[in-house]
Amino acid sequence: MSDSKSKIFVTKSHLPPKDKYFELCSQIWDSGQLTNNGPFVKKLESELNNRFNNNISYVTNGTVAIQIAIKALDLTGEIITTPFSYVATTSSIVWENCTPVFVDIEKEYLSIDPEKIESKITKNTTAILATHVFGNPCDVTKIEQIAAKHNLKVIYDAAHAFDVQYQSKSILDYGDISTLSFHATKIFHTSEGGAVISQNKELDHKIKYLRNFGHNGRTAFHGLGINGKNSEFHAAMGILMLDEITHVKESRKSAYQMYIQELAHLNDLTILKIRPETIWNYSYFPVILKNEELLNKLLDDLKTWDIYPRRYFYPSLNSLPYVTNISCPNSERISATILCLPFYANMENKLITHICDKIKKVVT
Ligand SMILES: *Cc1c(COP(=O)(O)O)cnc(C)c1O
Repeated sequence: MSDSKSKIFVTKSHLPPKDKYFELCSQIWDSGQLTNNGPFVKKLESELNNRFNNNISYVTNGTVAIQIAIKALDLTGEIITTPFSYVATTSSIVWENCTPVFVDIEKEYLSIDPEKIESKITKNTTAILATHVFGNPCDVTKIEQIAAKHNLKVIYDAAHAFDVQYQSKSILDYGDISTLSFHATKIFHTSEGGAVISQNKELDHKIKYLRNFGHNGRTAFHGLGINGKNSEFHAAMGILMLDEITHVKESRKSAYQMYIQELAHLNDLTILKIRPETIWNYSYFPVILKNEELLNKLLDDLKTWDIYPRRYFYPSLNSLPYVTNISCPNSERISATILCLPFYANMENKLITHICDKIKKVVT
């Protein structure tokens, strides 16, 4: 085994210059304010508000963001959701005492299939919670029509969709609430962090007190709340990462093009398609193998070269031990055959050709 430095993982967190971060830490020391809506949290929030022209509440992480979204909309009963996402999408529904009802995904874009939603709606359905998986927009137009017809709320888990535009506007403008994750593995990160976004001023107000214990001033309360606040240290990371994001996306774009050039002609591997009318963010590089046997063979082989892609997302969430399993054949097949390849900013071309050479030894 070679040392851990040479191991190639699915992602590598981009970091701002160390001295700049230390300078902001020094300001935190001097001010003595570590959290509770301090100057860096306010600055990050206002920069994000401007960037997305929307109401952003910066919170602890992307999972708490989903839980706050469900609480803010007073959801109960059944929530229609996608089986192809990170576990937090489903676990948040269950954590909030609602029941996830799975609807299978579209084969091409891997997000919830709107054609299959209506047959799953019952008198107990209160919302649709869908994921813009890998930053690929859901079919938001059809979802909106269905939600309006059946009087359902819509939450988008936009954890992968920072800076994605669809039909000439921010993807965060769709639905009642969108949530972001700023976890270290996401393209824009604050080491841990997330955000809840709503265009509706009243909802935004509710989200802001929900994340702060329900406080209305020091001694009064609007209602139930949780501690969803984030700290000055995390916000400082975010402020500096905003300066990096243009470079991060450009660098990922060139890595993406290099991968395409190397892999697009292979027969037993399919590269994710992005929905038309999308300005994408180059957040992941998923490939779908011909079958699971080939996937396992590839994983085993790449491991000998210290290359570790990830099975995002496996297993299909309808098979979790704490949900009612509803058969979702597309999601189950995709989950069994999809891999995210190493993909991050500042990957050298020769690293990409190295990875692709190894892939081409196994996949034709
Ligand atoms: C990362 C992720 C989350 C959870 O975000 P955290 O910030 O890690 O809590 C939720 N949904 C999806 C689709 C994710 O990829």
